[in-house]
Amino acid sequence: MSDRIFNFSAGPAALPLPVLEKAQAELLNYNQTAGMSVMEMSHRCKEFDEILDHAKKGIKKHLNISDDYEVLFLQGGASMQFAMIPMNLYIPGKPVDMINTGAWTKKAFKEVKKLAEWNLAASTEEVNFSRLPHKDEIKLDSNASYVHLCSNNTIFGTQFKEFPNTGDVPLICDMSSDIFSRKIDVSQFGLIFAGAQKNIGPSGLAVVIIRKDLAERADESIPTMFQFRTHIQEGSRYNTPPTFGIYMVGLVMDWIESQGGLEGLEKHNQKKADILYQAINESGFYYCPVDEQDRSLMNVVFRVQGDKEALEKQMVQEAESKGLSGLKGHRSVGGLRASIYNAQPLEAVEALVSFMKDFEKKNG
Ligand SMILES: *Cc1c(COP(=O)(O)O)cnc(C)c1O
Repeated sequence: MSDRIFNFSAGPAALPLPVLEKAQAELLNYNQTAGMSVMEMSHRCKEFDEILDHAKKGIKKHLNISDDYEVLFLQGGASMQFAMIPMNLYIPGKPVDMINTGAWTKKAFKEVKKLAEWNLAASTEEVNFSRLPHKDEIKLDSNASYVHLCSNNTIFGTQFKEFPNTGDVPLICDMSSDIFSRKIDVSQFGLIFAGAQKNIGPSGLAVVIIRKDLAERADESIPTMFQFRTHIQEGSRYNTPPTFGIYMVGLVMDWIESQGGLEGLEKHNQKKADILYQAINESGFYYCPVDEQDRSLMNVVFRVQGDKEALEKQMVQEAESKGLSGLKGHRSVGGLRASIYNAQPLEAVEALVSFMKDFEKKNG
C-alpha cells in the first residue's frame, strides 16, 4: 500500500487502513456468506440486524454508555442536529444557553435563534476564538432548556479538557471532531452528537447518543423524521439508514478495540500532538495562535511567524508534492492545520515534523 499518502484533512478524514482493507475484502461478498455487498442488502435483513447491533454495541462499550441512553444512526450530518436539537429539546420559556467557541457553534447558534429563546452564556469571538472561555466567564442560567457546547473546535484548534458542570440542565455536546479520541464520562451529557467523517467512519452519517428521557420533551406535532422519539422507537430504521456507513462504524469500533480502547488511543493521540506542538514551540519560524492550555489534540493549527501568507501557501503545495496532504488551514483562519485524528499514524506526524524542519531551513 505504498501509494497511500498521509492525509491531514479535517474531514472527511483518514480512516484506519485495516478498516479499509476489511471493507475491501468484504465488498463483493459480505462475511463470505451473504453473497452480496452490505450496500446491496435490505436494511431489515438478519445480516444487517447484526451489523447495526455490532456497531451500536461497540459504541456503547468504548464510551461505557448506560442503558439510560440510546445510540442513534441518523442522516443530515452534524449540521442537521443544529436544528433537530432545539426542535426536540427546547422548552418554551426556558432559553437555550449557548457557549460560542467557533464556526461550528455559530452555525448551531443560527438555528437555535430561529427556533428558541437563547442566552449567550460565553463567547471568545473577540479574540478570534484563539482560546476557550475560562470557567468564571461562562454564565449559565439554571432555568435553561439545555446548554450547547462544542468539545473540539475543528477550525480554530481548541479543545475542552474539562466540561462545565451544568447541574440539572442537560449539557449537549457537538463531539464531531474528537469523539472516541479520549475517555469521557457520558453521564455528564444529555446528548452527544457527531458527524461520522472525522473519527468514526464515512460521511453521510451522524451518531447521536441521547438520554432517553430527553426525547420525550418533543412536541408530537414535529415532523416524524425530525423527532428523536421516532428513531428511538424504530431502532434507527424508521426509514432506510446509511447502511454502509453503519457497517464501517462497526469496523472502526473493532479497530478501536485493537488499539487498546480509548485508553490506548488517548495516549497515542497525546503523543502525536506533543511531538507536533513541541516542534512548533521550539522553532522560531512557526507559531501556534491558540492559548497553550486550550490546544486541540485533534486539529493542530499553526502559522509561519509574521503570518507570511505566500510562504504558507508554498508550504502547503510542497507538502502535497511530498505526500503530506490536506494541510491548508480553514479559509476563516488561514495558515496551516494538521488534523491528526485517531487513524493518523505516528509516522505521519513524524514525516510532517521532518518536512517542517526542512522547510524552515530553506526558507527561515
Ligand atoms: C465537521 C463538523 C461539523 C459538521 O459536520 P457535517 O456532518 O458536515 O454536518 C459540525 N461540528 C463540528 C465540530 C465539526 O467538526
